[in-house]
Amino acid sequence: MSRFFSQRHAALRPYTPGEQPQDMRYIKLNTNESPFPPGEHVILAASLQAARLNLYCDPACAELCAAAERLYNVHSRNILPLNGSDEGLFLAFLAFCDENNPIAFPDISYGFYPVFAKLNHIPVHKIALREDFSINVKDYLALGQTIVIANPNAPTGICLGLQQIEQIVASNPDNVVIIDEAYIDFGGKSCVLLTKEYENLLVMQTFSKSRSLAGARLGFAIGNEKLLEDLCTLKDSINPYNVNSMTQAAGIAAIEDNVYYMGNCKTIKETREYTTTRLEELGFRVLPSSANFVFAESDRVSGESLYRMLKSRGVLVRHFSDERIKNFIRISMGTTEQMDILLTHMSNILNRVIL
Ligand SMILES: *Cc1c(COP(=O)(O)O)cnc(C)c1O
Repeated sequence: MSRFFSQRHAALRPYTPGEQPQDMRYIKLNTNESPFPPGEHVILAASLQAARLNLYCDPACAELCAAAERLYNVHSRNILPLNGSDEGLFLAFLAFCDENNPIAFPDISYGFYPVFAKLNHIPVHKIALREDFSINVKDYLALGQTIVIANPNAPTGICLGLQQIEQIVASNPDNVVIIDEAYIDFGGKSCVLLTKEYENLLVMQTFSKSRSLAGARLGFAIGNEKLLEDLCTLKDSINPYNVNSMTQAAGIAAIEDNVYYMGNCKTIKETREYTTTRLEELGFRVLPSSANFVFAESDRVSGESLYRMLKSRGVLVRHFSDERIKNFIRISMGTTEQMDILLTHMSNILNRVIL
């Protein structure tokens, strides 16, 4: 820290993203990226934009919003394109919470939520998940606080149903409820259409996971136009050109290629079922996942050693040191070939551990 750093941020501990190591080629199962490349149209559309990078992009993302209207079945005034959904979450924390208006979320959830809260000096109300890591909906009814829930939750992969989400939204009419749907295409039911009925519901979607565009940074906030106006006021006060022109073009092409991405999601779901079965055969406890990852623990080897032993064998998975989940590892779904390599290593590691 330099002696010039504002005291306001002295205690801030930034979010730790999954490793993106450049030292060797790993099988990367640690950041929930898609193992499939973007579609050909996306690659072409983004490259064509490269020749126009001397010009600023459209700050309103008009064409992209028009395309997203078809994808989400809501009006374009109810859609705000973002530089990844992380940007939308940050703007929402900034817009709807402050020193006197806390944010509530599960004790085990996306690691960025506490960081955004701290950065904005927002008190946090952590609500413990049940013993089986599911959300108890009752804990969120008539809470009277801004709420953010990842659905499916991360890193557990466990999903709430549409009715349960609606109960939470309906019982907190005077507070914004943010539903972070980063993994919704892998099994859950999206609550996007509920935004037409509930003015306090804000949904975050991303093209990073199911649409192979993590590196392009593209997300969407969907909700009542007044809520989006607030986010937009803040966005235009920080970075009006938040979605660059190559990404806007890639996003439009990705929406046109939706069939390709939904096909990939189906493959990922099959890989998830296969991986779950094989892990259970190896004695792992695997939480029921509706996402493109599984969260698993073994009673024979700690999460941390498993993470290290896999890394030394060239496979990266994610380990978190929070007390409740420190024995787990989170494994992103790769191709079946990648999963077979992982499973072979797992089996060798476990056999060595018993011997
Ligand atoms: C990956 C992820 C995001 C962020 O996605 P970007 O659009 O890449 O910023 C948001 N929420 C959760 C729960 C995630 O896992």
